[in-house]
Amino acid sequence: MVVGFEKAVSATKSVVTSAKKAPTTLSSNRVINFARGDPTMYESYWRQMGEKCTIVISGHNLMSYFSNAGHFCWFLMPELDRAIRRLHCVVGNAVVDDDRYIVVGNGSTQLFQAVLYALSSSYDPDTEPLSVVAAAPFYSSYPEETDFLRSGLYKWAGDAYSFDKDGAYIEVVTSPNNPDGAIREAVVNRDGGKLIHDLAYYWPQYTPITGKADNDIMLFTFSKATGHAGSRIGWAIVKDIEVATKMVKFMELSSIGVSKESQLRAAKILEVISDDCQNSAPDKEENFFEYGQRLMSDRWEKLREVVKRNGVFSLPKYPQDYCNFIGKYTDPSPAFAWLKSKDGLNCDNLLRELKIVTRGGTNFGVDSNYTRISMLSPDEDFNLLLEKLSAIKGTIINGNN
Ligand code: PMP
Repeated sequence: MVVGFEKAVSATKSVVTSAKKAPTTLSSNRVINFARGDPTMYESYWRQMGEKCTIVISGHNLMSYFSNAGHFCWFLMPELDRAIRRLHCVVGNAVVDDDRYIVVGNGSTQLFQAVLYALSSSYDPDTEPLSVVAAAPFYSSYPEETDFLRSGLYKWAGDAYSFDKDGAYIEVVTSPNNPDGAIREAVVNRDGGKLIHDLAYYWPQYTPITGKADNDIMLFTFSKATGHAGSRIGWAIVKDIEVATKMVKFMELSSIGVSKESQLRAAKILEVISDDCQNSAPDKEENFFEYGQRLMSDRWEKLREVVKRNGVFSLPKYPQDYCNFIGKYTDPSPAFAWLKSKDGLNCDNLLRELKIVTRGGTNFGVDSNYTRISMLSPDEDFNLLLEKLSAIKGTIINGNN
């Protein structure tokens, strides 16, 4: 898992640039990894919160497999169900009415596979596997997760923009998108299509919240909402009970549910965030999303400045929008920077020369002149990234491709 996730640092072709590298210092020699979307930058916020999120679990607690026997999702703890619904109501980013079913998973990664199973299992086993597509650039794990077990039920079919097969299919719509931060809608739009909306980044720190998402199947993750990737908690909000029940079956067979310790911790943290967001005291502190939004937009401003100054790369531009949660117009500040080399060079290789490890465009179904940089690393690493990028000043004279 770790190797696949990190895409082990591969040897790269040497590139010769006229980049006037800053005098070698210990920090400029350090390899920094921006290939992963590990949300460790939020650690300092949670440290400041002290004991507010601490839970105590005794040896005799949480021993049963069951959390809510009789409920369709028998391993979902009622505390977490309530905390998820409350937070979505507070933020206003998804419809969670009583007729929506919540399925908890070991990260949204497991739920993605559960949804693929749920949507494809009723198809005739003698027919071809159901095509799974997403518009490029797409999240690099979708192809691997879809084809890893060589299922006879479904199969990765690539870029949704070039998908032209008749019949049933599944389209994954990631919005805001990983890697390029774009707000997206389905692109295939044909009869027989089923949609999975991956809304991992539809939170105020990454994008203005413009309305409540109300899609058939929506995936969210604790990892990107609050930064607690290590708890491995994700949730799906599903309209159709049959789909939700099949997802629960998948979860039952792959892991007999989800850790109760993790669920309780997630419930506690989500409740603390909701309490803080609803606190109307005049001297209240910044809530988690206000903090995240301020930090992310500050990082984006600094990155844009450096990129503009060195003239070698470009970054996507995003329109401002009114964020219902923050209560004013905000700029999107995505979790990843989608960097493009202006001269058509292999962007990932170029940055590896500077000891910056990123994830190149080909992993996301597009050209190597793009690469993805995580914006979620700790301050120290992010500052070093800015320092290293500032060191590329000249024009690249000997291209690589
Ligand atoms: N979907 C998207 C778009 C993601 O970026 C990620 C994490 N990188 C995931 C799903 C998986 O999240 P989790 O940690 O919940 O498995």
